[in-house]
Amino acid sequence: MCGIVGYIGPREATQFLLEGLHRLEYRGYDSAGIAVTSTDNIKVRKKVGRVSELAGLLDEQPVAGHTGIGHTRWATHGAPSDTNSHPHTGGNGEIVLVHNGVIENYSSLRKQLQGLGYVFTTDTDTEAVAHLVAHHLEEQLKLEDELTEELCLRAVKLTLLKLKGTYGLAVLFRDIPDLIIAARNGSPLVLGVGKGEYFIASDASPLIGYTDQVVYLSDHEIAVLTPGKLDLMHRDTGSMAPSIHTLAQVSADIDLGDYEHYMLKEIYEQPQTMENALRGRLDDDEATAKLGGLNLSPQELRRVDRIVLTACGTSWHAGLVGEYLIEEFARIPVEVEYASELRYRNPPMSDRTMIFAITQSGETADTLAAMRECKRKGLPTLAICNVVGSSIAREAHGGVYLHAGPEIGVASTKAFTSQVTVLSLLALFFGRMRHLSYGAGQRFIRNLQEMPEKIHRALECHEAVKAVAERYASMNNFLYLGRHYNFPVALEGALKLKEISYIHAEGYPAAEMKHGPIALVDQQTPSVFIVPRSGIYSKVLSNLEEVKARGGPVIAIACEGDEKVAQLADDVIYIPEVEEYLQPLVCAIPLQLLSYHIALLRGCNVDRPRNLAKSVTVE
Ligand code: GLU
Repeated sequence: MCGIVGYIGPREATQFLLEGLHRLEYRGYDSAGIAVTSTDNIKVRKKVGRVSELAGLLDEQPVAGHTGIGHTRWATHGAPSDTNSHPHTGGNGEIVLVHNGVIENYSSLRKQLQGLGYVFTTDTDTEAVAHLVAHHLEEQLKLEDELTEELCLRAVKLTLLKLKGTYGLAVLFRDIPDLIIAARNGSPLVLGVGKGEYFIASDASPLIGYTDQVVYLSDHEIAVLTPGKLDLMHRDTGSMAPSIHTLAQVSADIDLGDYEHYMLKEIYEQPQTMENALRGRLDDDEATAKLGGLNLSPQELRRVDRIVLTACGTSWHAGLVGEYLIEEFARIPVEVEYASELRYRNPPMSDRTMIFAITQSGETADTLAAMRECKRKGLPTLAICNVVGSSIAREAHGGVYLHAGPEIGVASTKAFTSQVTVLSLLALFFGRMRHLSYGAGQRFIRNLQEMPEKIHRALECHEAVKAVAERYASMNNFLYLGRHYNFPVALEGALKLKEISYIHAEGYPAAEMKHGPIALVDQQTPSVFIVPRSGIYSKVLSNLEEVKARGGPVIAIACEGDEKVAQLADDVIYIPEVEEYLQPLVCAIPLQLLSYHIALLRGCNVDRPRNLAKSVTVE
């Protein structure tokens, strides 16, 4: 995971590097560090902990220079510590680099390099890369008398050929101070193009306010950056012209505004983000959804007889809601696959199977790999994704953007509801190509149009949720139970609590809990029942009574005015009534707020939960 930044140009590099690392901190926050070149050496400052710790260190020990790189780490190899923090040094300090990804053959490289006399001082996989570049540089210098940019490039290329695994790399050279070489395979890298200056970042957010001109690196591409010059090449095929894109993002998107945390801000953005997901996509005349980015002809779409949704984490839960929606309205069989499983499985897929990769960041390593595996088999592979220009968005044959704006809080909230909204649009779209009548399509559209307002009203439960959180924050086990469309919501509610409160929570189909989890019920184990009015309302109520009969406290999420539930449950949180198939959108809101408040009461860091990172770019 981790975030990388780099700068070369007329400015003092440190300001951009630090600011960029702050913006990328959601990707990892085990440690942070920067390296800046000066005339005769490269100065490295690094420290375990947050970027703010690094900023403190830089106040005490400032560095000056116009070329630099930086890193915020999510440790994969070697515990978080000052020593294991990036940047890492190769040889005798000739090379300093930052790395995002995992070098799978690091231990054999390490042995070989130790055999050649290189001394390792860290436990990371990355250090092997730094020494390997230094080694190749030394070898090249034996052949030529002068150190040149070309020589540095050759050393990097030779190194890349020996690496197995994934990397986003930015390399500094002590003896050529005005040079950065960046390379990518599997981990994202974006270059910002300014006036006589260049920026490097793991995603576009650090570039906002500096430049809106960007070049997205693809796998096996290498960029050689000098002040005022960018050379782009493919590792195997050589030089290529950079394709420059213009960023649409505005800086207000990443400001916290009046909110205390990004998570709360993003929860409150949901009426707007849902509106954004729907904008321009509802065709009242045809009673269907307009999804221009699918890039398939009506004939191709009509042939589809099976859909596979692949994703990880919260996006996988959104996929489960999608399965129910698409099967009900379009009558197409759907499977929801964990991307980390699908990438190594070999399920039979006919040429009528269509794949959707669901991902907020568009960089999730497992989802990208699963998507590539399906693409390799020649299947139409599309993306439901938030980040424009991300790897998955670029590599997919087509897809649908969420338009939810940057999601910074590590626990996903608005991306979930936007994904479910997009999946409901797909259900409508495929439904109208098949069995769904004109009238039913129009009703679907009207219900969708009402959703932003319903979400707005659902947010009115905030004070009630806060009171519930206070009563239950000290408990150490929770069950989340729901049925039908609300089963995935139960999974998502439990995940939110685990992620940011570190409380053990299990999501289960409410009726299925009789087959095991009911044994967990006691007075110290609250069950959160998602029980809005629906065709199976009375069935879920029976499950709720089963828990009550065993002395378990019950928190119910129910429709406004539901007195019956109020009599049975210990606590009720009310949400507005909506059609059954759209209930996940409103039921998710109180569960997001509940985990937020319980985390706050337990003193947890809501936006930066331990051991997690936002964008999982390692396998
Ligand atoms: N594998 C490297 C490390 O553990 C980089 C991890 C990352 O991408 O965050 O330091």
